[in-house]
Amino acid sequence: MKRWGIVLLALVFVGGLSAAAWGDTLADVKAKGVLVVGIKDSAPPFGFIDQTTREIIGYDVDFCKAIAKKLGVKLEIKAVTSATRMPQLAAGNIDLIAATMTITAERAKQIDFSYTYFLTGQKFLTKKGTVNALVDLVGKKIGTAKGSTSEQNAAKALPTATILSFDDYPSAFLALQQGKVVAVTTDESMLAGLLGKAPNKEAFEIPDIRISDEPYGLGIRKGDKGLLDAVNATLLEMEKSGEAAKIFGKWFGPKTDTPLQRTFKIMAQ
Ligand code: GLU
Repeated sequence: MKRWGIVLLALVFVGGLSAAAWGDTLADVKAKGVLVVGIKDSAPPFGFIDQTTREIIGYDVDFCKAIAKKLGVKLEIKAVTSATRMPQLAAGNIDLIAATMTITAERAKQIDFSYTYFLTGQKFLTKKGTVNALVDLVGKKIGTAKGSTSEQNAAKALPTATILSFDDYPSAFLALQQGKVVAVTTDESMLAGLLGKAPNKEAFEIPDIRISDEPYGLGIRKGDKGLLDAVNATLLEMEKSGEAAKIFGKWFGPKTDTPLQRTFKIMAQ
């Protein structure tokens, strides 16, 4: 009897390691009264520092505020980058990733994703008049961020280009301004965010060259079903109530410096 008990315990431990190592995040979050999320602090308008309050604000922040409110807990933000977001989640330093993160099959082997809460596609930011088509970028130096789908997609679309991966996109944009790269590549929504905040925006453009679809999901530890269900239910409610569209309008509406069309609706997938 005792032996079977040990075998059973071992099976439960090994089988459930990914989720069970952290137990039930939803219950933990409710018990501690705080939802700790990983958000970018240099990816306007998704997550960036408000110059007056010094707080991180943006589209990703507003979604997390709504989720924390729904769970009846406080929100705590930890800054992450493209490269650190998954390791931070795996280490248990954050409960949720809300950081411009594309849902991919490769990533879904390691973490679970919520329903798509933003949809965009990968493009290029260049000096005005220098790039009209993908062929103009063949063999050139292109800047992007480490740990992103952007670097993978760019390497695939432009195999002879030199892809320089920076810690974040503002650093890649600086390299463009200094003439160290001829383009910055990532999601159109993020390029619009970089351009929107640039003092010399007339010098740059985003040519109509789209190399991928990038649906964003919120990242949750694998098998952490309680939190995943709560997050998805909140996203659907936000779509239904109009709150999701309102948040989109706040950051991407016609009066913002990053006007974009809302080409998606949040739905069960
Ligand atoms: N959405 C893409 C990704 O998840 C590019 C933007 C980013 O680096 O977060 O990799």
